[in-house]
Amino acid sequence: MSFQDTTQRFLFEHADVRGELVSLDQSYREVLAKHDYPEAVKALLGEMLAATVLLSTTIKFDGLLILQARSSGPLSTLMVECSSDQAVRGIARYSDDIQGDTLPELMPDGILTITIDPQQGQRYQGIVPLEGHSLAEALSAYFDNSEQLPTRFRLQADGRSARGFLLQALPADRQIDPEERDATWEHLSILANTLKAEELVSLDNQTLLHRLFHQEDLRLFDPALVRFECSCSAERSANALISLGHEDALALLAEQGGAIEVDCQFCNSRYAFAQAELDDLFEAAHQHARSLH
Ligand SMILES: [Zn+2]
Repeated sequence: MSFQDTTQRFLFEHADVRGELVSLDQSYREVLAKHDYPEAVKALLGEMLAATVLLSTTIKFDGLLILQARSSGPLSTLMVECSSDQAVRGIARYSDDIQGDTLPELMPDGILTITIDPQQGQRYQGIVPLEGHSLAEALSAYFDNSEQLPTRFRLQADGRSARGFLLQALPADRQIDPEERDATWEHLSILANTLKAEELVSLDNQTLLHRLFHQEDLRLFDPALVRFECSCSAERSANALISLGHEDALALLAEQGGAIEVDCQFCNSRYAFAQAELDDLFEAAHQHARSLH
């Protein structure tokens, strides 16, 4: 079954609970196409992609949300970025002798970092242990432990398509009585728990929601499109070189023989800077610095 790359919100009419369903095909495959990842890494990177899009729908922000998992195990890094307008990119780093396919095998003693990098204002960062048997479990635990709204994640990816499901309690509005609210959350999370992995990967959103919640009054919103897009540019690479300093950049140039090549790990774009370009860059940076004084 093929889906468009979308994320779609749903809301219970008589409960303070919302949900989100994300489906990634093309964008997931574009992320995978840049590297020759082992199957287990493809799957986990797909789960990370789905999770990052889901997280991005739970907060209001203007900028980037970055989800990063790190471990001293065979899979050392998983990193996904999702912009507030749902452009995603992602990368994995792993050792050549990688073995196993579960999260505890691939990323033992890992940590999970959630960063919100707004275009304006303060950067936010939350760090939690990468606990549990899956990324979905680790994220659910993160919400439980950080005294945020109770949230449940389900994630599934197979190297071709990635899907994610989220259920989240909202602040009291439709239901005020705390016991009633707890009972509703309990009821809806139990229903959500009956979702099977094969249903998550094979059913369209309407069928899936009907199967889980057919007795509930539910509103399904228009889907938002998700796309692969890399935020790298020649200008960003140039800025990285400028931050090295002129002397170090020239040393690097000599070392690399005639041109500094900056490769983007996310999309494999290559930005090359020869001596003349490097001189222009530092001259411009110098002028700019002078004009500020
Ligand atoms: Zn790039």
